[in-house]
Amino acid sequence: MGKVAVAFASAAVVAACSVAAVMVRRRVKSRRKWRTVVEILKEFEEGCDAPLGRLRQVVDAMAVEMHAGLASEGGSKLKMLLTYVHDLPNGTEKGTYYALHLGGTYFRILRVHLGGERSYLDVQDVERHPIPSHLMNSTSEVLFNFLASSLERFIQKEGNESNSQGVIRELAFTFSFPVKHTCISSGVLIKWTKGFEISEMVGKDIAECLQGALNRRGLDIHVAALVNDTVGALSLGCYHDPDTVVAVVFGTGSNACYLERTDAIIKCQGLLTTSGSMVVNMEWGNFWSSHLPRTAYDIDLDAESSNPNDMGFEKMIAGLYLGDIVRRVILRMSQESDIFGPSSSVFSQPYVLRTNSVSAMHEDDTPELQEVARILRDLGLSDVPLKVRKLMVKICDVVTRRAGRLAAAGIAGILKKIGRDGGGGITSGRSRGEMQMQRRTVVGVEGGLYMNYTMFREYMEEALVEILGEEVSQYVVVKAMEDGSSIGSALLVASSLQS
Ligand code: ADP
Ligand code: MG
Repeated sequence: MGKVAVAFASAAVVAACSVAAVMVRRRVKSRRKWRTVVEILKEFEEGCDAPLGRLRQVVDAMAVEMHAGLASEGGSKLKMLLTYVHDLPNGTEKGTYYALHLGGTYFRILRVHLGGERSYLDVQDVERHPIPSHLMNSTSEVLFNFLASSLERFIQKEGNESNSQGVIRELAFTFSFPVKHTCISSGVLIKWTKGFEISEMVGKDIAECLQGALNRRGLDIHVAALVNDTVGALSLGCYHDPDTVVAVVFGTGSNACYLERTDAIIKCQGLLTTSGSMVVNMEWGNFWSSHLPRTAYDIDLDAESSNPNDMGFEKMIAGLYLGDIVRRVILRMSQESDIFGPSSSVFSQPYVLRTNSVSAMHEDDTPELQEVARILRDLGLSDVPLKVRKLMVKICDVVTRRAGRLAAAGIAGILKKIGRDGGGGITSGRSRGEMQMQRRTVVGVEGGLYMNYTMFREYMEEALVEILGEEVSQYVVVKAMEDGSSIGSALLVASSLQS
């Protein structure tokens, strides 16, 4: 071989070696990055861990806080609000009633016709629309004019068939934010949650605001009840099944209510009700306990929310937030590695990943995770490798498993407080023995997260059985109540006007 040929050959060898060296370096680097990502996942998973022992601590804390919230005003982060609802629907109600429901994401209007027999509940017309986002930080005038005009349109569509002229339409206003009631038909807003920020409305009577807007339009509608969404769900539960004593909502936000003995509501002595009990709106979204498995991502989410230091439980279990917890974990991973590719900056946008997408990814059962790929593509991330898509599914699973398990602990806490957990309760002076323990107890559940996210529902129900044990679980029935809060509120108007 000539000198030139030797020089070429050795140059080629050097080049091949350096290409190989670059490839090895790249592989080592990419392995190191993947290890970092796996460590972030592991740390997150450990932070979210909610084994049975921890759930039991949450159960106890919930029961204790309920007790404290009933004992004195401001005695707990749980407000335990009086609703003045004591006669729940029983199936004998008659007539036509309306409900307007302002949720965290949707507003709904519906009409029900009741024939006086439990079996005759005719939900005749339901409208559901997303709440235009500009309303969430507008003014009370803009908000209520919008609601009144929506109702006006709904009623115009009826013609005269549903309401002979001159008859006032009785309406329930289902309002899913904390209200301090003075009676069933009026109450003032305590604070906004779920991203709403119309500060001038805090302290105003919500039913009066709506009635004013309806009157200004000359509508023959009477706001007969102001109903928390959970109370609506409880009402529908009772209408169908008198053993319903608890209702929980998992939608944009989360909350629970239950039927309490008036003598246990110590902060309000001398409450007289025919039934000896009253529905208490717990506002459980604000529950807090040091036993809750909280991670750095939860802390950041809270600090950057419109209501920091508020609604800590809700921020771990409700639809508005689950997607954003997942997003925060992905963001951290993409900051520390490039596994999501160059477009991963999309994850720095708050709330860009919705909980609907979390459930769609989590429940993607295609072998190649095509649904995950589609959602990522819609976010501007194409060609994300399969192993990264699997990682996404895992993050969704960790977030939702924790949410479902904590939700179950919350429900078990209520059952413990009222002596339906098989233990005997913690509050009453009376003995709560076998009889209470064995009673059938129905928990009505509604909300978009619960109704549409199967894995959330399964984690919750599985953990509830784990906490209560197989035997007691046989007596606890969890019942889905589709549109329960709106329909039930209309039923509640019927029962309150007829009692
Ligand atoms: P609102 O809270 O306005 O009363 P919903 O009870 O219908 O309304 O809850 C809507 C919320 O439920 C959505 O914002 C979302 O967080 C959650 N949700 C709805 N559908 C799904 C789904 N398929 N998967 C996961 N979460 C969902
Ligand atoms: Mg709702």
